[in-house]
Amino acid sequence: MELEKTILRKVGEAIGRFKMIREGDRVAVGLSGGKDSVTLLEALLLLQKRAPIHFTVCAFTVEQGKFLSPIAPFGEYLKARGVDWTYVEDGPSLRLLDEQPDHGCDLCSRFRRRAVYSIARGLGANVIAFGHTADDFCESFLRNAMFTGRLSALPPVTYSRKRDFRLIRPLVYVTETLTRDYAQGLGAPVIPCGCSQKTGTVRRTLRDMFGEIERDHPFLKETLLSAMGRIETGRLLDTRFLDLDGDAEEGGFFAEEETPELVKLG
Ligand code: SF4
Repeated sequence: MELEKTILRKVGEAIGRFKMIREGDRVAVGLSGGKDSVTLLEALLLLQKRAPIHFTVCAFTVEQGKFLSPIAPFGEYLKARGVDWTYVEDGPSLRLLDEQPDHGCDLCSRFRRRAVYSIARGLGANVIAFGHTADDFCESFLRNAMFTGRLSALPPVTYSRKRDFRLIRPLVYVTETLTRDYAQGLGAPVIPCGCSQKTGTVRRTLRDMFGEIERDHPFLKETLLSAMGRIETGRLLDTRFLDLDGDAEEGGFFAEEETPELVKLG
């Protein structure tokens, strides 16, 4: 299947480029009930069989009280595929929902992070994989640049504060057009999160903006991801990277650097 091959190639490229998975790793995939994390799980299960290294994969879902439909069909789907899946209702998140129904993402994600680490620890995992896609990286990049005044997106690889978990995002080069088609082909039930239905959010505005520009420039996300991988620090305004006194070696910060090729998303 061509779509599956494309996704595996992109996930494999991300894993290799960012050294996401190593010999002996136990990878816990965070399943949100959506198309992206299901695609990630399937990709990792397939790559596990083909990879030259040995690693194991398990999956988990944290219930924070935001699913709009019952999770049971999702569990049945995973069971039928023989996936090692753990489902945990997070008490503190559910209480938060009762006590502060209008809480923001900061609080919600802090609670989720705590639950995720505790579940992953219980599963004996040293790697936690999240289903953020190329779309998420691009949106985050623009959101930070336009609304928070920072040039940053999401880390493809990072570590928990105590460094007991490697946190990876292997779908960095996979767009949601691909995950939508792939999850549909798998017949995976999608359990929507209440937050994904909200309108009037910055995220929604950026999504609409992308959709509009992509009508004339279909490789917009490809170009943005490439830009994130080849930063010209001498042409930005951060004085830490500027040769203000002209004493950098010849070429200095302005030297042409070797840059990776444009990332192919298509
Ligand atoms: S979008 Fe919803 S589920 Fe996600 S962090 Fe924000 S409040 Fe939580």
